[in-house]
Order: sequence, then structure tokens, then C-alpha cells
Amino acid sequence: MSTSNDAVACIEHFINGRRLGVASERWGDVFDPASGRPSGRVPLASAATVGEAVAAAAAALPAWADWPPLRRARILFRCRELLAANLDALAAIVTAEHGKVLDDARGEVIRGLEVVEFACGIPHLLKGEHSAQIGAGVDSWSLRQPLGVCAGVTPFNFPVMVPMWMWPVAIACGNTFVLKPSERDPSASLFVADLLAEAGLPPGVFNVVHGDREAVDALLADPRVAALSFVGSTPVAEHLYAAGCANGKRVQALGGAKNHLVVLPDADLDQAVDALLGAAYGSAGERCMAISVAVAVGDVADALVERLAARVRALKIGPGAAPGVEMGPLVTRQHLERVRGYVDLGVAEGARLVVDGRGLTVDGHADGFFLGGCLFDGVTPDMRIYREEIFGPVLCVVRVPDFEAAVALVNAHEFANGCALFTRSGNAAREFSRRVEVGMVGVNVPLPVPMAFHSFGGWKRSLFGGHAMHGPDGVHFYTRLKTVTGRWPQDTAGMAHFAMPTH
Ligand code: NAD
Repeated sequence: MSTSNDAVACIEHFINGRRLGVASERWGDVFDPASGRPSGRVPLASAATVGEAVAAAAAALPAWADWPPLRRARILFRCRELLAANLDALAAIVTAEHGKVLDDARGEVIRGLEVVEFACGIPHLLKGEHSAQIGAGVDSWSLRQPLGVCAGVTPFNFPVMVPMWMWPVAIACGNTFVLKPSERDPSASLFVADLLAEAGLPPGVFNVVHGDREAVDALLADPRVAALSFVGSTPVAEHLYAAGCANGKRVQALGGAKNHLVVLPDADLDQAVDALLGAAYGSAGERCMAISVAVAVGDVADALVERLAARVRALKIGPGAAPGVEMGPLVTRQHLERVRGYVDLGVAEGARLVVDGRGLTVDGHADGFFLGGCLFDGVTPDMRIYREEIFGPVLCVVRVPDFEAAVALVNAHEFANGCALFTRSGNAAREFSRRVEVGMVGVNVPLPVPMAFHSFGGWKRSLFGGHAMHGPDGVHFYTRLKTVTGRWPQDTAGMAHFAMPTH
């Protein structure tokens, strides 16, 4: 909880088309992870403030839902142009509060923007199906209608992209939206809200409330909220899924991950090492699709570990805004301590710490939340560093004898977000893709993040609910299906049927 500090920026809510000056009793601190110093104060909304945002969204709903989809798409085109024009500003905000390197922040904004581009096609995406003459003189057609007020609760690690998995599709479908972004890096959402207003989005269609569990509980309890989209850690995802469903809401809740990259003996080792390096240490491992386990099959292990170790030791680590840096700091001191604790634990559990990043210091940034890249070899499935999500720059190498053992290992894990296979064998790749019980699979692609026009989501304890994000699943999640059956009889004789009509 923050103490009062007037020297840092005061972040605001965005309700009914404007920033809201806040008289909140509770505040959180936002930090610059590279310096370790507070950079802002974020209000933690009470249930009353959340109620205001939901009321604004509910008031805006009837008119917005009634707009022709083509007209809604035109607003989204304008949003897209303004977001693209402000790409660098948005990326700078992400780096300042999250810590990731600027190029990566730009990449995140662009991947988010692609969902806005997808949502611009909403007139096409909302087209239903039509069957003529399903019976004599009878036609039937289906349509998709908005749900109402939708809410989004998002994690710290993609403060622009993950909200954009949700709101562009939700509002394109005719819903209104209340976003509760992560309180660790909340400024980007406020910046986006200003741009949407400038694009001509009517007040109340998109609202931002900052906060923590109290705000989320208020969204869960509010009967005016029809649907909740969540992305974050598995315990919270599971809790929100259960609570939201119990309150009669439609819920999609994406959780944590432990993503494996399997290296077969026939793989191009240079490619595999490059892939592992970017996928394990990019964004300091704070990605839900980060590779945190390298599965070394057969005799590939020694060479793989040796090459990896040299590259991990050579990682360029520093402030995300500095040129040439490959990996920035972790998001908060608390998270740094947690990840460091897992490295201590791995050593205690008997894994071999080949590269130890715990002693890293970055010149001029003694108080920044930095941790050097860490590499464990000899990790076994019973260890907590294997079973639990670390969410930091820590890669675990597990050695297995053959392909079958690799598939069995991946399939036995409770998380099933993403995975990848590196091989030169088409047959092995085909078998792996078919048999692996994971939602997103890469073949010689380490981070198989689906594009905006496909849907993003894992299996098992990485996703609760029947719908993934964006793409066709996103449109289905944010709409309800209605099927109309109609006829225009010319005379009324014979209308009383007491048995199921058949043809
Ligand atoms: P988190 O679960 O701590 O927080 C996510 C959101 O939930 C935040 O907005 C937070 O304010 C809120 N929240 C936290 N505790 C809550 C509680 N008890 N009740 C109600 N709301 C609560 O996650 P994080 O640390 O911000 O993000 C990292 C996690 O997100 C990792 O586990 C990562 O794997 C996951 N993630 C998953 C995906 C995916 O697509 N599966 C994508 C990105 C991140």
C-alpha cells in the first residue's frame, strides 16, 4: 500500500468518456523497475467506483448495441490509426512500468493492434447462417447478438496486448466494456482510453477502473456484468471462473503455464539454442508463452547445455530503454525475490545450477529489479522448480531418453498453454502435434502465439472455460447465438400441431 507521495504521477480511472479525478482512500505504488524507484500512484477502486463504471457501461449499451456493425467498425478503424500513430509512446509507457526492452514493447503493441485490425472486419464476422426451405414454406437463420456489459481483468506482463485480446472484439460485437488492468503497470490502459475517446468512441463504451481484489470482487458481484474475461495466474483464474459462473456470468479465464521445448537429436542445434535463448529469457521470462523447460532427448543434452550456458552468460542485461539491451529487469522487487527464491530452491532440490544469475549487478542501477539469466540442468519432474510456474529468467533442462518419454513428460504436466518441438523429421513433428495435450504447439517455432484471426488459449489448468481469446472464439465468446425459424403462411388452416413437426 502506498504512503502519500506528491512527487510521483497520480494515475486516474477513465469512466464515461473522461478521466476521473480520484479521492481514493487506498493507493498502490507503481515502480520504474530499472531504477527501483516509485514512478506513480494508482488508485485502488472501491466497490462504489466500480459500480460507477458499470453504470456508465450499462447506460451506453442500448445505443451502442444498436449501431450497425459497419459503423462500429469505422470507429475501430479510427482507433487503429491513432494507436498506430502512438506506437512509440505506448511502447515507452510499457517499458517504463513493466521493464521489458523497447523493441519487445513495440512488438507487444503491434500484436495487440492486430486484434483491432481483426475486429475491423466485424460486419463479416457477425454474418450468420441461413437455410432456405427447411420445411415447406419455412426458412431458418442464425444471428449473433451482444451479451451486454463485459469486464476484463488483465495481468502485468502484457499491459497493452492482453487487454487488446479482449476489448476490440467485445465492443465490435456491440458490447460495452469495463477494464481492470494490472495495478503494477496501469498507465498504458489510461493512454489507450484517451485515444479511443479521441477516435470518437461514445462515452461509456470503454471504461478503465484500477484496483486489486476489491475491484474484481465488485465486478464479480455486479449483476449488470454479463461476462468476464480474465488472464493471469492459475489460482486467481480458477477462483474467478468458479465465482463468475456461480453468479451466472459467462467466463473465460486464462491461467499460468510451464511451456516445454523438446529438442530431438536430429534438430539443428544452432536453431534450437537461438530459439531457447529468446523464448526463455526474452522479457525476463515474464511471458505466459515463455519456454521454461528444455527437454533434451537422447544424446543431444551435453552439447545443448554447453552451448546454452555460454549464451546465457553473455546476455546483455540492463534498463529496457537502453540501446542494445536484450533483457530488462523483473517487474517488482517482490517478484524478483520470488524468482530468486525459486533459484535457491532448485539448488536445494539438487538440480545443477549451470549459470547462476543471482549475483548480477547493473552499473548505475543498483536498486533495479535485475536478475541474471539462470540455467538449471538435471531437473526432474518431482522438483518444485519443474512443477511450478517461476515466471522469470530461469530455464530448466530435463533429460529424457527418447521421443515417447518427451511426449509423456509434456502430457503429464498440469499446465498446457504452449509447447514446441525442434526436429528435422516431418513424421516426428506430425506425431508430436497430434498427440501432445497442449493448446498451442510450435514446430521449429518456439513461441507459437496464434495470430489475431486465430484464437489464443491453452488446455488443462492453463484455461478455464470453453472459449479462447480473439479470433473466431473471441467473437463467439462475446455474442450469443439466436436462431430464428420463420414462415409466412397464406392460410391458417392446419396450424394446430400436437406432435413434433417432421418433414
Ligand atoms: P495475477 O493473477 O497476480 O493478476 C492478474 C489480475 O488479477 C490482476 O489484474 C490482479 O489485480 C488481479 N488479481 C490478483 N489477485 C486477485 C485475487 N485474489 N482476486 C481477484 N483478482 C486478483 O497475475 P500477474 O502476476 O499479473 O500475471 C502473471 C500471470 O499471468 C502468470 O501466471 C502468467 O502465466 C499469466 N498469464 C497467462 C496468460 C495466458 O494467456 N494464459 C497470458 C499472460 C499472463
